[in-house]
Amino acid sequence: MKPLTGRSASAISELVRDVVDRPFRARQVALWVLQRNARSFDEMTDLPKALRRELARRFSLHEPEMAEVVASLDGSRKYLLRLADGTTVEAVSMPEGQKVTLCLSSQSGCAVGCTFCVTGALGAGRNLTPEEIVGQYRLMVRDLGGDVERVNIVFMGMGEPLLNTTHLGTALEALMETVSPKRITVSTAGILPGIRWLAGLPRRPLLAVSLNAPDQERREAIMPITRRYPLPDLMAALRAFPLERGRRITFEYVLIRGLNDAPEDAGALARLLRGIPSKVNVIPLNEDPDHLPGLRRPDDGTIDRFAARIRDEGLTVTVRRSRGSDVAAACGQLKGRQASRSATADHCLPAASPSRR
Ligand code: SAH
Ligand code: SF4
Repeated sequence: MKPLTGRSASAISELVRDVVDRPFRARQVALWVLQRNARSFDEMTDLPKALRRELARRFSLHEPEMAEVVASLDGSRKYLLRLADGTTVEAVSMPEGQKVTLCLSSQSGCAVGCTFCVTGALGAGRNLTPEEIVGQYRLMVRDLGGDVERVNIVFMGMGEPLLNTTHLGTALEALMETVSPKRITVSTAGILPGIRWLAGLPRRPLLAVSLNAPDQERREAIMPITRRYPLPDLMAALRAFPLERGRRITFEYVLIRGLNDAPEDAGALARLLRGIPSKVNVIPLNEDPDHLPGLRRPDDGTIDRFAARIRDEGLTVTVRRSRGSDVAAACGQLKGRQASRSATADHCLPAASPSRR
């Protein structure tokens, strides 16, 4: 059965063309799937019963199943989702007033193998399908009860979105029916062909790059993918990346004690970014003794000094507080806990907050 979920309005219309009697019916179906987030064809009460039956016979509204939800004191909710083949992935919702940021996974593991990342430690997974990607959004929006005015989506959950561009592209088309591309961020470890693919999209989401080190040598040590896509090539591709007016590239920088947290590293980072409209998001490492032995988060003073140095260099910087840590709320944790029976570190780190000082 072909899924209608994870597809754009025009793709849905095309799929159901032979089933509906009149073209406006196709638009109605798309509206139910995309705007009203229907879970069953039975809900589509303005369609004739026979048509609903026929749609249900030929198509599905597939989405992952909610296996576990963990609510945090600060309002963020972390979801462990079970896919049809039994694989599990995570997604997180982080409300802030009437706004909510939804963190989605693009793969069920990650082959990129960054040394500071629990998903990387769990190893390669598989690409999620468009319905599994968009299904995370559908589930969370429904779970929030519809009282959100504005949704932001970040692909900062499990996996490397730019190693799943085919399904990501289809999913983005569907998501952009209800969420502006200005409110969707794709985060990458720096997969060059994927960045070029993104640059060529007619409607582009925002780009975030996990930089994490200011030079080739150290980046290679913690992000082995840097050997394949060297830092100078990555920076050149980012300089060439088409940015609409007012848009900037976000650079994520996971701060690891003694490894990349010196003020000189902040200076080197600022030099690296010169000339690129950018903002820096400093993310103190989420520790995980089981999966990431020996890696520590710097103390608060070091974090503040690092951020201050970047700001002094004239760049915009935010420090991400890890929200939801009372329930181990970052992506990778629930699944990591399943794998090892211990709470682990993360991924989907909540909304950026202005850095102190
Ligand atoms: N694969 C993509 C998107 C998922 S990772 C990427 O790497 O960008 C999302 C973010 O989580 C990345 O910026 C990554 O650097 C960060 N991250 C991974 N492990 C982390 C940890 N243990 N502590 C803090 N941030 C982490
Ligand atoms: Fe994969 Fe991103 Fe984790 Fe690296 S940081 S292992 S690319 S999920």
